[in-house]
Amino acid sequence: ARRKLVAGNWKMHGSRSSTDDLLALLVAGLDGLSCDVLVCPPYPYLAQAHTVLQGTGVVLGAQNLSEHVEGAFTGEVAPSMLRDVGCTHVLVGHSERRSLYGESDAIVAAKFVAAQAAGLVPVLCVGETLAEREAGLTQGVVDRQLDAVLQVAGVSAMRQAVVAYEPVWAIGTGRTASPAQAQAVHAGIRAVLAARDPEVAAGVRILYGGSVKPQGAEELFRQPDIDGGLVGGAALVAGDFLAICRVA
Ligand code: 13P
Repeated sequence: ARRKLVAGNWKMHGSRSSTDDLLALLVAGLDGLSCDVLVCPPYPYLAQAHTVLQGTGVVLGAQNLSEHVEGAFTGEVAPSMLRDVGCTHVLVGHSERRSLYGESDAIVAAKFVAAQAAGLVPVLCVGETLAEREAGLTQGVVDRQLDAVLQVAGVSAMRQAVVAYEPVWAIGTGRTASPAQAQAVHAGIRAVLAARDPEVAAGVRILYGGSVKPQGAEELFRQPDIDGGLVGGAALVAGDFLAICRVA
């Protein structure tokens, strides 16, 4: 069975002191959790987060990375730098990166490969917009986003990766996908992987993201192909994030 993973994407929120405060509350509430926990604070707070999280079992991820190893890429952060400050994971292809910063499927695939080359576990985010869903394109869009990575990295790369299905229309809107809607896409993602390698497909964790709140999380996590959550807003409130972890 796949162990559940609950990940917090803090996005561009917080300060040095609020990061310490939030992490202290999280660490104090870990007793009895049966899921894996990942937090993804902003770049400047990763090093301090690593210090606080060492030995707690909570793992650390970044929200983005460069696809390059090093060089003249002003403002970018190399995969090795993330490892150096204690990250084990990194989000790749979040919809905000795709839509606001022009990250194409090809760039996302390059970032995925760069993350793994540095020993990071990429959390590959996929998901359709509302217009795409209404046009009946959901599975096609998700398959295309996934396929771009599989073409470059190969299906066996998914042994060291996590997938996150985040319908764009559910992100930050308070409008969660229904458990049935999410399950259908998760099953579709697993089927795409299974067609290439059933064993890999059976092992990969597929998280749901998009307005995950304590209320409703349990039913989402009960779906057979939903292996946890990628939580935005609710990850900034320790009590809410822990409540979500508790039902995972
Ligand atoms: P919300 O939980 O705030 O909708 O954000 C979801 C998300 O984008 C996580 O990566």
